[in-house]
Amino acid sequence: MAVPKRKKSKSKRGKRRTHQKVVASNLSICPQCGEATLPHRACPSCGTYKGRAVTETKESYIQTGKIDPWRQRQKIAAKSYTV
Ligand SMILES: [Zn+2]
Repeated sequence: MAVPKRKKSKSKRGKRRTHQKVVASNLSICPQCGEATLPHRACPSCGTYKGRAVTETKESYIQTGKIDPWRQRQKIAAKSYTV
C-alpha cells in the first residue's frame, strides 16, 4: 500500500482545513406566525406550510383535545416499568 513519504506540515494541514467550517443555514420567515423557519419545510411553531396546516403542534393537540403521541408513549413506558 502506498504510504506518504513525509508528514504534512502544520501549514499544509491548516490550508486544507480552511474549507472546514460551520455555515449558518438560510432562514425564512413564516408568513403565518412570523417565526424563523428552514425554507421548504413546515413551520415547527405553527405547523403550516404555504398557509396550509400540515402538521400537528402542541397547541393544536390542546385545542382539539387529542392526546399528544409523545405523551402517550411516555404513559405506556411508565406503565411497563411499574410491575
Ligand atoms: Zn409559523
